[in-house]
Amino acid sequence: MSFLKIEQLNACPPMVTPVTISFKKCGSYEIIELRKQVDALLEPFEKLLKKIKRCDRVLLKPNLLSGHPSEHAVTTHPKFLEAVLQFFIDLGTKPLIGDSPSPVFKNMGRLFEVTGLSDLERRYNVPLIFFDKTGWEKKSINGKDYPIARIIEEVDYIINLPKVKTHILTLLTLGVKNMYGVIPGFKKTLLHKELPNSVAFSEMNLDVYLLSKPLLTIYDGIVGMDGEGPAAGNPVALNFMLATDCAITGDMFITELLGIEKRRFPLYLAVEKSGIEVDMKYKFFGDPLETYERKIIRLPGTNRLNFLPSILTKTVGTQIWARPRIITKKCANCGKCMEACPAAAIKKGVVRPYFNYRRCINCFCCVEVCPYRAVEIKVSPLVKLGMIL
Ligand code: SF4
Ligand code: SF4
Repeated sequence: MSFLKIEQLNACPPMVTPVTISFKKCGSYEIIELRKQVDALLEPFEKLLKKIKRCDRVLLKPNLLSGHPSEHAVTTHPKFLEAVLQFFIDLGTKPLIGDSPSPVFKNMGRLFEVTGLSDLERRYNVPLIFFDKTGWEKKSINGKDYPIARIIEEVDYIINLPKVKTHILTLLTLGVKNMYGVIPGFKKTLLHKELPNSVAFSEMNLDVYLLSKPLLTIYDGIVGMDGEGPAAGNPVALNFMLATDCAITGDMFITELLGIEKRRFPLYLAVEKSGIEVDMKYKFFGDPLETYERKIIRLPGTNRLNFLPSILTKTVGTQIWARPRIITKKCANCGKCMEACPAAAIKKGVVRPYFNYRRCINCFCCVEVCPYRAVEIKVSPLVKLGMIL
C-alpha cells in the first residue's frame, strides 16, 4: 500500500491515509434524488466530517469559470451545489459559496444570476463570495510564492466542487485544477503568461491545491463536458458523482474511469515530478464499477500536440500547430477575448477581433472566456495526421 511521504503530510490533504474514494451512479439533477445520493456518497467520510463543529464556516468552492447557464455544462450544476449545501446546513454549519472566475467577468451579480447561485442565495440565505474582493496574501510552497485569496484562511473548511470536463490546455479539469480559483483573477492572467506549457501549468495547479487544503472534493460528473472544454465543448452524460479526501487520487481515478491513459494527463506528470506518490492506494466505497456504464469521451484537439511521434516533431516542427480562430457569425465583438489574452495577441477589429499569431502563447484563455463560444481551435493537417499514425 502506498502512502504520501511524511514531509508532505502537513501540506497535502488528506492528513490520514489511505485515501477514500466514494462513487455513486447518478443520472439526474432532480434535487430530492440528488440529496439522497449526496448523503450516501458522503457516508464513508463520517469520521472526517465529525471534525466539523456546529457553526463552523464551510466554504463551498464550485467551478464558475464564466457566466454560462447550467445546461452548457461549463459550471458546477446549481442543483448539485444545492444538494451539498443542504447537507452542510443540516450538519449545523454556516456555509458560504464562492469563486474567482476569469477577470473579464466584472459583473459578478450577473454571473451569479446566470450560474444559478443567486437563486441559492435567495432561498438559503447563503452568502456568495467573490474571492477577489476578500484580498489576497502571499503563500509559499516548494520555494514558489503564490497570491492566494484571503478567504481560504478565514473559513474553517473548504469543500471543493469541481465539474468533470476536458480542458484544451490541461486535457482535463478536475479537483486539483478547480482550486486554481483561489488565485485572484488578475493574477491568473499573469500565471498563464508565465506558464504556457501544460505540465508547468499543472505543477502550479498542484501547488495551489496543496496550499488550499480542501477537506473534501466532491465531483459533479452527472453531466460533464467533452471536446474543446472547459467552455466550448459539448455536454456529455457521464452519470456519476464522486467524493474523496485527496483530489490527486480522485483525479487519477476519474482519468482511468474515462478510459484515458494517465500519462497523457499533464497533472499526472506534474505529480510524478513533484515526488508525491501519484498512484496512491485508496479504499473504495459505493456502487461497484462493474455496474457503471463507462463513457468514452472526445478529447480536445490540442491533446494531439503533446503526444505526436517524435519523428514528426523533429522533421516538420513548424508544420505542427494549434491556434485559436474566431467564428465570425457567432462573434458579438464584445472584446472579452482581448481582455483575457495574457500575450496581447488579439487586436480590436471592426466586425470581430483578429489574432497576431506571432505573439500567441497557446494558453487558450480566449476560448475559455468567450461567452458566445465563438473561438474555436484549429489544428494543422500534420497534427491531424499524427493522431492517425
Ligand atoms: S470572439 Fe467571443 S469574446 Fe471575442 S469578441 Fe467575439 S464574442 Fe467576444
Ligand atoms: S490569442 Fe488566445 S491562445 Fe493566444 S495567447 Fe491570446 S488568449 Fe492565449
